[in-house]
Amino acid sequence: MASPQDDLPPLRDVVAAHGLAPKKALGQNFLFDLNLTAKIARSAGPLEGFTVFEIGPGPGGLTRALLAQGASRVVAIERDPRCLPILEEISARYPGRLEIVEGDALKTDLAVLAQGAPARIVANLPYNVGTQLLINWLTADVDNPFWTSMTLMFQKEVGQRIVAAPGSNHYGRLGVLAGWLTHSEILFDVPPQAFTPPPKVISSVVSILPLAERLPCDLAKLERVTHAAFGQRRKMLRQSVKPLGGEALLARVGIDPTRRAETLSVAEFCALAEAL
Ligand code: SAM
Repeated sequence: MASPQDDLPPLRDVVAAHGLAPKKALGQNFLFDLNLTAKIARSAGPLEGFTVFEIGPGPGGLTRALLAQGASRVVAIERDPRCLPILEEISARYPGRLEIVEGDALKTDLAVLAQGAPARIVANLPYNVGTQLLINWLTADVDNPFWTSMTLMFQKEVGQRIVAAPGSNHYGRLGVLAGWLTHSEILFDVPPQAFTPPPKVISSVVSILPLAERLPCDLAKLERVTHAAFGQRRKMLRQSVKPLGGEALLARVGIDPTRRAETLSVAEFCALAEAL
């Protein structure tokens, strides 16, 4: 029976017909539940008029949801050549709207592919490279991000690190970077049973929106400060930031040297970076 969403065959049938056995090394945990893929696509906001980047479309469950919900142009970047014939079938169902790029998303410059058009990134990310991909997109051009929104599935623990506030155990370098540049929130969790095969951990869909105005701060300096401070997160700052100036640096910004990294707000990290 065809899928109610788009008259293409059900995903399980497609995967079976193509003999696509999931590969762990590629982080392949597929979503076959149309309600769930539709929910993820809906939570990305309106898709008409946007280029939507999807990383790791796999057999195309989320891709189909994005197209069914009106994405004008989906650019799907997939590393596994076994998925390409399946994606071509989806492309034929939506002529001119799905571009398939075979390659490694870590080496793909989405800003170039966006060609200046408004872009959203929506993906059920391969977990082994998800954090690095996010950092690449966040830091590509902090003054002029090429993306309007990101709606991304991560392991829940990574989601918690992205949205973490000071004082939380999850707060670290990623939370400071995301807090400086974005408003991020966990939209909903997805249990392991929703995937084929099920991963060991719970997943979360995270919404990441660029802040209209951010605190003035130099990215490289901010990374030096957070690297030092969280490199020894249990130690007092006077010890952990010693290589960057220690107590003298902290005094310039009025930060108590006995505090620990996880108590500092994003604004305090930015002030420290600017004082370097
Ligand atoms: N989007 C599909 C879904 O939701 O069912 C598949 C998601 S699966 C978690 C991750 C996908 O990313 C796999 O199809 C995998 O082959 C692909 N992938 C893994 N590493 C990649 C990389 N570096 N660049 C592009 N795609 C990658």
